[in-house]
Amino acid sequence: MLTTPHLLVGAAIGSQFHNPMMVAPISAASHFVLDGIPHLGGFIEVEDLEKKEVLFVLGDVVLGLGLLLFLTNNNPAAELIWLGAFCAVLPDFHHTFQVLFGPDKLKKYDNLHKKFHYKKPMSILSGMATQVATVILSLLVILGIF
Ligand SMILES: [Zn+2]
Repeated sequence: MLTTPHLLVGAAIGSQFHNPMMVAPISAASHFVLDGIPHLGGFIEVEDLEKKEVLFVLGDVVLGLGLLLFLTNNNPAAELIWLGAFCAVLPDFHHTFQVLFGPDKLKKYDNLHKKFHYKKPMSILSGMATQVATVILSLLVILGIF
């Protein structure tokens, strides 16, 4: 999935648990569960990264972090929410490592990570719908509405 749904699911987990020793592993595990849910794209091939893909990834990250800044402003659970968000995106950090140091780095982990990914092609509408629904559900949990 995109970074924003990963960040917000981790944040939702952080908002529900009071123990960082629970928040960190559950949030990290949520990453692989979300990657397995049918969705469009969200998997980067660092070998042939195009400028528009970089801009899309940056926009996605800025959106997710902006939402987190908004949600944690004056929120007493801010630290656990940020911990959950960080741990939820941590399994994708090998992409950054590969961009910086070469696509052959961390290849074994990259192959393992790909095994969790939903791989079938989807329409843009249904592929984005699962991600938007994930974001909305997470927001409802964090805001205490759901
Ligand atoms: Zn992933």
